Amino acid sequence: MDAEVVDLRAVRADTPAALDRVFLDSAGSSLPPTPVLEAQIAHLRREAEVGGYLAAGERNDDLEAGYGVLAELLGASPDEIAFSDSATRSWLSAFDAVPLADGDRVLITEVEYAGNAVPLLRRAEETGAVIETVPSDAHGQVDVAALRELLDERVKLVSLVHVPTNGGLVNPVAEVAAAAHEVGALVLLDACQSIGQLPVRLHDLGVDLLSGTGRKWLRGPRGTGVLAVRREVLHRLRPRLVDLHSGEWTSPTTYGLRDDARVFELWECSLAAKLGLIEAARYALRVGVDTIAAEVGDRAKRLRAGLAALPGVDVRDLGEQQCGLVTFTVDGVAAADVKARLAVEGVTVTTSAVGSTRIDMARRGLDEVVRASPHYFVSPEQVDQAVDAVSRSGR
Ligand SMILES: *Cc1c(COP(=O)(O)O)cnc(C)c1O
Repeated sequence: MDAEVVDLRAVRADTPAALDRVFLDSAGSSLPPTPVLEAQIAHLRREAEVGGYLAAGERNDDLEAGYGVLAELLGASPDEIAFSDSATRSWLSAFDAVPLADGDRVLITEVEYAGNAVPLLRRAEETGAVIETVPSDAHGQVDVAALRELLDERVKLVSLVHVPTNGGLVNPVAEVAAAAHEVGALVLLDACQSIGQLPVRLHDLGVDLLSGTGRKWLRGPRGTGVLAVRREVLHRLRPRLVDLHSGEWTSPTTYGLRDDARVFELWECSLAAKLGLIEAARYALRVGVDTIAAEVGDRAKRLRAGLAALPGVDVRDLGEQQCGLVTFTVDGVAAADVKARLAVEGVTVTTSAVGSTRIDMARRGLDEVVRASPHYFVSPEQVDQAVDAVSRSGR
């Protein structure tokens, strides 16, 4: 595949469903390309033929190489990568390992995700740590000047969402990380909506911990996730869910723990799913991360422009830099009804409700938005079809 422009014919040939429907839900759960599907099925078959242990043994080298593949994708080294079964699991195991005590402060942003907010609040309740929200700037992204004002040495963690679940906003990660590090705070980046659509590189961004999912923009299997941990911060973390893979029982009363990111993994997992995720990362690298970002950006821009021109439709995306999540509302029509009417026309979108990003949605007075997230395998013509379908959804 070309390094600059995606070979639309080739990627659509690997994504047969993209031909039949206008699939605009890669922010929810994307269409995996054929090689990803085949990697999983082949392994499941092999497990049925020889048993799970022998089947795993046969793929040992590939599984080991997978750490290098994800490391390449995420601008990290293989010992900084851990696999998991979801972005949430990755985020939780990282968050749980950050020491927090009474009076410590944790900063979040206005687009914090519900799946992080619930454990944050629970942990605050348990430890006496305080959660505070950094305001957004006029563009809707985290206000880095306001963050600097809030930072002091009591801030132990900054929880930053790269791209929120409810819109095209891209937060300025490197600036946040640099500011947080001046007071010694750790930075945990929720990159769930960015990996697979944007370049996300651990060391370039300067974050300490980074969580991501397989099923969204990376086009991997459901039930997969990844955690990247900057080697330099591992000694400051205390992983709480550890087993005989993250550690070793060295005598009846002693144990040791691994000294790499795999200390965050548990022994048991779906190897078919893991192989599928590795294949998805390889596929993204073959298409090219910069190419993907450019193509997704192009489709999203086209979609936003088409929607903005429709009477009664409001595009709701914030941010100076915008990416592949396109959110909108249609006057007088509930988001769920827009979704249902589009489904009838073969256009797949989803909705995002206030409960997922409560601070941001409440601030903007929004209950629900329609979310359309075109990947590179969606043709420009299909984007126009979707706009046409939305123009009919208000009637
Ligand atoms: C989807 C999402 C998650 C959770 O991902 P899972 O794979 O469901 O664990 C976390 N953060 C954001 C911003 C998301 O959109």
